[in-house]
Amino acid sequence: MICDKCKNKNAVVYQPHIRSNLCRECFINDIRERVKNELRQAGVNKNSKVLLAVSGGKDSYVLMDVLSDYFEPSNIIALNITEGINGYNRREHAEQLKRISKENGVDISFTSFKEEIGKSLDEIMVRNQSVSACTFCGGFRRKIINSTARNASADYVATGHNLDDEAQTVIINILRGDLIRLVRFGDLPLKVSDKFVTRIKPLRKIYEWETTMYSFLNGYKFQEVECPYISRRPTLRAKVRELLYSIEEEDPGALLKIVDNFDRIAEGLRKTISLDSNLPTCKICGEPTSYGRDICKNCELLLESGILQGELLRLNR
Ligand code: SF4
Ligand code: ZN
Ligand code: ZN
Repeated sequence: MICDKCKNKNAVVYQPHIRSNLCRECFINDIRERVKNELRQAGVNKNSKVLLAVSGGKDSYVLMDVLSDYFEPSNIIALNITEGINGYNRREHAEQLKRISKENGVDISFTSFKEEIGKSLDEIMVRNQSVSACTFCGGFRRKIINSTARNASADYVATGHNLDDEAQTVIINILRGDLIRLVRFGDLPLKVSDKFVTRIKPLRKIYEWETTMYSFLNGYKFQEVECPYISRRPTLRAKVRELLYSIEEEDPGALLKIVDNFDRIAEGLRKTISLDSNLPTCKICGEPTSYGRDICKNCELLLESGILQGELLRLNR
Protein backbone atom coordinates (compact mmCIF):
# COMPACT_ATOMS: atom_id res chain seq x y z
CA MET A 1 0.00 0.00 0.00
CA ILE A 2 1.38 3.41 -1.02
CA CYS A 3 1.19 6.49 1.27
CA ASP A 4 -1.91 8.63 0.54
CA LYS A 5 0.07 11.82 1.15
CA CYS A 6 3.43 11.61 -0.62
CA LYS A 7 2.22 8.91 -3.08
CA ASN A 8 5.75 7.59 -2.99
CA LYS A 9 6.70 5.54 0.08
CA ASN A 10 5.05 2.46 1.54
CA ALA A 11 2.30 3.19 4.07
CA VAL A 12 2.90 1.85 7.60
CA VAL A 13 0.03 3.50 9.52
CA TYR A 14 -3.73 3.60 8.91
CA GLN A 15 -5.70 6.49 10.46
CA PRO A 16 -9.32 5.23 10.61
CA HIS A 17 -10.74 8.67 11.54
CA ILE A 18 -9.75 10.10 8.14
CA ARG A 19 -9.36 6.78 6.29
CA SER A 20 -5.78 7.59 5.43
CA ASN A 21 -2.73 5.36 4.91
CA LEU A 22 0.55 7.10 5.70
CA CYS A 23 4.25 6.30 5.50
CA ARG A 24 6.44 6.80 8.57
CA GLU A 25 7.62 10.32 7.62
CA CYS A 26 4.16 11.59 6.61
CA PHE A 27 2.62 10.19 9.82
CA ILE A 28 5.28 11.87 12.02
CA ASN A 29 4.80 15.16 10.12
CA ASP A 30 1.03 14.88 10.47
CA ILE A 31 1.29 14.59 14.28
CA ARG A 32 3.84 17.41 14.55
CA GLU A 33 1.71 19.76 12.44
CA ARG A 34 -1.50 18.97 14.36
CA VAL A 35 0.25 19.65 17.70
CA LYS A 36 1.74 22.92 16.47
CA ASN A 37 -1.62 23.91 15.07
CA GLU A 38 -3.24 23.34 18.47
CA LEU A 39 -0.61 25.62 20.06
CA ARG A 40 -1.16 28.35 17.44
CA GLN A 41 -4.94 28.16 17.85
CA ALA A 42 -4.59 28.51 21.62
CA GLY A 43 -2.54 31.68 20.98
CA VAL A 44 0.63 30.27 22.57
CA ASN A 45 3.62 32.44 21.70
CA LYS A 46 6.75 30.60 20.51
CA ASN A 47 8.94 32.70 22.81
CA SER A 48 7.09 31.65 25.96
CA LYS A 49 8.71 29.83 28.85
CA VAL A 50 7.03 26.48 29.43
CA LEU A 51 7.17 23.75 32.04
CA LEU A 52 6.69 20.31 30.56
CA ALA A 53 5.18 17.73 32.91
CA VAL A 54 6.62 14.39 31.77
CA SER A 55 5.54 11.07 33.24
CA GLY A 56 7.73 8.75 31.15
CA GLY A 57 4.67 7.53 29.23
CA LYS A 58 4.40 7.72 25.45
CA ASP A 59 2.73 11.15 25.58
CA SER A 60 5.85 12.57 27.28
CA TYR A 61 8.05 11.74 24.31
CA VAL A 62 5.68 13.23 21.75
CA LEU A 63 5.47 16.39 23.88
CA MET A 64 9.22 16.63 24.31
CA ASP A 65 9.89 16.01 20.62
CA VAL A 66 7.37 18.45 19.17
CA LEU A 67 7.56 21.20 21.79
CA SER A 68 11.34 21.44 21.63
CA ASP A 69 10.81 22.22 17.95
CA TYR A 70 8.06 24.81 18.57
CA PHE A 71 9.59 26.61 21.57
CA GLU A 72 13.22 27.56 22.15
CA PRO A 73 14.55 24.42 23.99
CA SER A 74 16.34 26.63 26.55
CA ASN A 75 12.89 28.06 27.45
CA ILE A 76 11.57 24.58 28.34
CA ILE A 77 11.91 22.99 31.76
CA ALA A 78 10.85 19.35 31.99
CA LEU A 79 9.64 17.97 35.33
CA ASN A 80 9.19 14.34 36.29
CA ILE A 81 7.47 13.32 39.54
CA THR A 82 7.88 9.88 41.09
CA GLU A 83 4.65 9.06 42.89
CA GLY A 84 6.17 6.12 44.77
CA ILE A 85 4.15 3.22 43.34
CA ASN A 86 5.86 -0.12 43.71
CA GLY A 87 6.49 -1.82 40.34
CA TYR A 88 5.27 1.19 38.36
CA ASN A 89 7.92 3.87 38.85
CA ARG A 90 11.02 2.49 37.16
CA ARG A 91 14.57 3.79 37.19
CA GLU A 92 15.08 3.02 33.47
CA HIS A 93 12.26 5.41 32.50
CA ALA A 94 13.89 8.23 34.46
CA GLU A 95 17.20 7.44 32.74
CA GLN A 96 15.57 7.54 29.30
CA LEU A 97 13.82 10.84 30.11
CA LYS A 98 17.18 12.27 31.11
CA ARG A 99 18.81 11.12 27.88
CA ILE A 100 16.01 12.34 25.60
CA SER A 101 15.82 15.72 27.34
CA LYS A 102 19.54 16.13 26.77
CA GLU A 103 19.21 15.18 23.09
CA ASN A 104 16.52 17.84 22.71
CA GLY A 105 18.50 20.49 24.61
CA VAL A 106 15.92 20.60 27.42
CA ASP A 107 16.73 20.81 31.16
CA ILE A 108 14.91 18.24 33.27
CA SER A 109 14.42 18.04 37.02
CA PHE A 110 13.14 15.16 39.10
CA THR A 111 11.15 15.15 42.31
CA SER A 112 8.87 12.75 44.20
CA PHE A 113 5.89 12.69 46.53
CA LYS A 114 8.30 11.49 49.22
CA GLU A 115 10.41 14.64 48.83
CA GLU A 116 7.45 17.00 48.53
CA ILE A 117 5.00 15.69 51.13
CA GLY A 118 7.11 13.23 53.09
CA LYS A 119 5.21 10.10 51.97
CA SER A 120 5.11 7.98 48.82
CA LEU A 121 1.70 7.26 47.30
CA ASP A 122 1.96 3.64 48.51
CA GLU A 123 2.60 4.89 52.08
CA ILE A 124 -0.35 7.29 51.88
CA MET A 125 -2.61 4.49 50.65
CA VAL A 126 -1.69 2.25 53.61
CA ARG A 127 -3.20 4.89 55.93
CA ASN A 128 -6.19 5.60 53.74
CA GLN A 129 -8.94 3.21 52.71
CA SER A 130 -11.74 5.56 51.75
CA VAL A 131 -10.32 7.80 49.00
CA SER A 132 -9.03 6.46 45.67
CA ALA A 133 -5.29 6.59 44.95
CA CYS A 134 -6.00 8.56 41.77
CA THR A 135 -7.67 11.34 43.76
CA PHE A 136 -4.53 11.77 45.88
CA CYS A 137 -2.16 11.27 43.00
CA GLY A 138 -3.80 13.66 40.50
CA GLY A 139 -4.28 16.40 43.09
CA PHE A 140 -0.74 16.34 44.45
CA ARG A 141 0.83 16.08 41.04
CA ARG A 142 -1.08 19.16 39.84
CA LYS A 143 -0.05 21.04 42.95
CA ILE A 144 3.66 20.20 42.65
CA ILE A 145 3.67 20.97 38.91
CA ASN A 146 1.94 24.32 39.42
CA SER A 147 4.19 25.50 42.25
CA THR A 148 7.35 24.42 40.37
CA ALA A 149 6.21 26.30 37.24
CA ARG A 150 5.32 29.40 39.27
CA ASN A 151 8.70 29.40 41.02
CA ALA A 152 10.43 29.09 37.64
CA SER A 153 8.33 32.02 36.27
CA ALA A 154 6.98 29.81 33.49
CA ASP A 155 4.22 31.24 31.27
CA TYR A 156 2.63 27.84 30.69
CA VAL A 157 2.43 24.31 32.03
CA ALA A 158 2.14 21.79 29.18
CA THR A 159 0.69 18.40 30.02
CA GLY A 160 0.48 15.25 27.91
CA HIS A 161 -3.32 14.83 27.96
CA ASN A 162 -4.36 13.24 24.68
CA LEU A 163 -7.65 13.14 22.76
CA ASP A 164 -8.87 10.04 24.62
CA ASP A 165 -8.32 11.83 27.98
CA GLU A 166 -10.04 14.98 26.72
CA ALA A 167 -13.14 13.21 25.37
CA GLN A 168 -13.46 11.33 28.69
CA THR A 169 -13.21 14.59 30.65
CA VAL A 170 -15.95 16.21 28.54
CA ILE A 171 -18.35 13.33 29.24
CA ILE A 172 -17.44 13.14 32.96
CA ASN A 173 -18.02 16.88 33.46
CA ILE A 174 -21.36 16.65 31.65
CA LEU A 175 -22.40 13.65 33.79
CA ARG A 176 -21.45 15.56 36.95
CA GLY A 177 -23.17 18.72 35.73
CA ASP A 178 -20.07 20.70 36.69
CA LEU A 179 -20.56 23.94 34.73
CA ILE A 180 -17.53 25.72 36.16
CA ARG A 181 -15.23 22.88 35.15
CA LEU A 182 -16.87 22.74 31.75
CA VAL A 183 -16.16 26.42 31.20
CA ARG A 184 -12.56 26.15 32.45
CA PHE A 185 -12.02 23.24 30.10
CA GLY A 186 -12.18 23.88 26.33
CA ASP A 187 -9.39 24.77 23.95
CA LEU A 188 -8.50 28.27 25.13
CA PRO A 189 -6.46 28.49 28.35
CA LEU A 190 -8.37 30.27 31.12
CA LYS A 191 -6.67 31.63 34.21
CA VAL A 192 -8.74 31.65 37.40
CA SER A 193 -6.06 32.52 39.94
CA ASP A 194 -2.88 34.58 39.92
CA LYS A 195 -1.24 31.58 41.59
CA PHE A 196 -2.10 29.22 38.75
CA VAL A 197 0.26 28.96 35.81
CA THR A 198 -1.88 28.66 32.67
CA ARG A 199 -2.22 25.06 31.53
CA ILE A 200 -2.03 23.99 27.90
CA LYS A 201 -2.67 20.54 26.46
CA PRO A 202 -0.93 20.42 23.05
CA LEU A 203 -1.87 16.75 22.42
CA ARG A 204 -5.60 17.18 23.04
CA LYS A 205 -6.48 16.38 19.42
CA ILE A 206 -4.09 13.44 19.08
CA TYR A 207 -5.44 9.93 19.69
CA GLU A 208 -3.70 7.88 22.35
CA TRP A 209 -2.90 5.17 19.78
CA GLU A 210 -1.23 7.86 17.64
CA THR A 211 1.06 8.87 20.51
CA THR A 212 1.94 5.17 20.96
CA MET A 213 2.71 4.84 17.25
CA TYR A 214 4.72 8.09 17.20
CA SER A 215 6.88 6.91 20.12
CA PHE A 216 7.30 3.46 18.60
CA LEU A 217 8.30 4.82 15.16
CA ASN A 218 10.86 7.08 16.88
CA GLY A 219 12.31 4.14 18.82
CA TYR A 220 11.31 5.36 22.31
CA LYS A 221 10.75 2.75 24.99
CA PHE A 222 7.95 3.94 27.24
CA GLN A 223 6.06 2.95 30.35
CA GLU A 224 4.00 -0.08 29.36
CA VAL A 225 3.00 -1.32 32.80
CA GLU A 226 -0.40 -0.07 33.87
CA CYS A 227 -0.53 1.56 37.29
CA PRO A 228 -1.79 -1.07 39.81
CA TYR A 229 -4.25 1.40 41.35
CA ILE A 230 -6.28 1.66 38.11
CA SER A 231 -7.51 -1.92 38.34
CA ARG A 232 -7.97 -1.93 42.10
CA ARG A 233 -10.42 0.92 42.08
CA PRO A 234 -12.43 1.38 38.89
CA THR A 235 -13.58 4.96 38.65
CA LEU A 236 -16.15 6.73 36.54
CA ARG A 237 -13.32 7.57 34.13
CA ALA A 238 -12.56 3.88 33.53
CA LYS A 239 -16.21 3.21 32.71
CA VAL A 240 -16.45 6.24 30.41
CA ARG A 241 -13.20 5.16 28.73
CA GLU A 242 -14.63 1.73 27.87
CA LEU A 243 -17.86 3.24 26.57
CA LEU A 244 -16.06 5.77 24.36
CA TYR A 245 -13.76 3.11 22.90
CA SER A 246 -16.74 1.05 21.78
CA ILE A 247 -18.35 4.14 20.19
CA GLU A 248 -15.07 5.04 18.43
CA GLU A 249 -14.75 1.51 17.10
CA GLU A 250 -18.15 1.73 15.43
CA ASP A 251 -17.78 5.35 14.35
CA PRO A 252 -14.10 6.28 13.80
CA GLY A 253 -13.58 9.97 14.52
CA ALA A 254 -16.25 10.06 17.26
CA LEU A 255 -13.76 11.22 19.94
CA LEU A 256 -12.58 14.09 17.74
CA LYS A 257 -16.19 15.13 17.14
CA ILE A 258 -16.92 15.10 20.90
CA VAL A 259 -13.98 17.41 21.66
CA ASP A 260 -14.47 19.69 18.61
CA ASN A 261 -18.19 20.10 19.32
CA PHE A 262 -17.52 20.68 22.97
CA ASP A 263 -14.98 23.43 22.21
CA ARG A 264 -17.72 25.27 20.34
CA ILE A 265 -20.17 24.84 23.23
CA ALA A 266 -17.51 25.98 25.74
CA GLU A 267 -16.97 29.16 23.76
CA GLY A 268 -20.67 29.99 24.08
CA LEU A 269 -20.77 28.99 27.76
CA ARG A 270 -17.88 31.30 28.62
CA LYS A 271 -19.92 34.27 27.43
CA THR A 272 -22.89 33.41 29.66
CA ILE A 273 -21.12 32.38 32.89
CA SER A 274 -19.13 34.93 34.82
CA LEU A 275 -16.18 33.50 36.71
CA ASP A 276 -14.58 35.15 39.69
CA SER A 277 -11.10 35.82 38.33
CA ASN A 278 -9.37 34.87 41.57
CA LEU A 279 -9.92 31.62 43.42
CA PRO A 280 -9.65 31.67 47.23
CA THR A 281 -6.40 30.36 48.77
CA CYS A 282 -6.03 27.40 51.12
CA LYS A 283 -5.44 28.39 54.78
CA ILE A 284 -2.95 25.57 55.26
CA CYS A 285 -0.77 25.48 52.14
CA GLY A 286 -1.55 28.84 50.52
CA GLU A 287 -2.37 27.31 47.12
CA PRO A 288 -5.60 28.17 45.24
CA THR A 289 -8.68 26.18 46.21
CA SER A 290 -12.23 25.84 44.84
CA TYR A 291 -14.83 28.55 45.32
CA GLY A 292 -16.45 28.31 48.77
CA ARG A 293 -13.57 26.32 50.39
CA ASP A 294 -10.96 27.57 52.84
CA ILE A 295 -8.88 24.37 52.88
CA CYS A 296 -7.92 22.76 49.58
CA LYS A 297 -8.89 19.21 48.72
CA ASN A 298 -5.27 18.01 48.97
CA CYS A 299 -4.79 19.34 52.50
CA GLU A 300 -8.18 17.97 53.50
CA LEU A 301 -7.16 14.51 52.25
CA LEU A 302 -3.88 14.67 54.18
CA LEU A 303 -5.67 15.77 57.34
CA GLU A 304 -8.20 12.96 57.02
CA SER A 305 -5.40 10.44 56.50
CA GLY A 306 -3.73 11.58 59.73
CA ILE A 307 -0.56 12.80 58.02
CA LEU A 308 1.03 15.43 60.22
CA GLN A 309 0.27 19.09 59.66
CA GLY A 310 4.00 19.95 59.74
CA GLU A 311 4.43 17.90 56.60
CA LEU A 312 1.74 19.92 54.83
CA LEU A 313 3.76 23.07 55.17
CA ARG A 314 6.45 21.72 52.85
CA LEU A 315 4.02 22.32 50.00
CA ASN A 316 3.79 26.01 50.83
CA ARG A 317 6.69 27.01 48.59
FE1 SF4 B 1 -1.77 8.08 39.85
FE2 SF4 B 1 -4.15 6.90 39.41
FE3 SF4 B 1 -2.51 7.49 37.36
FE4 SF4 B 1 -1.89 5.52 39.11
S1 SF4 B 1 -3.66 5.57 37.71
S2 SF4 B 1 -0.50 7.09 38.32
S3 SF4 B 1 -2.67 6.38 41.02
S4 SF4 B 1 -3.52 8.95 38.72
ZN1 ZN C 1 4.26 9.58 2.74
ZN1 ZN D 1 -3.95 23.27 50.89
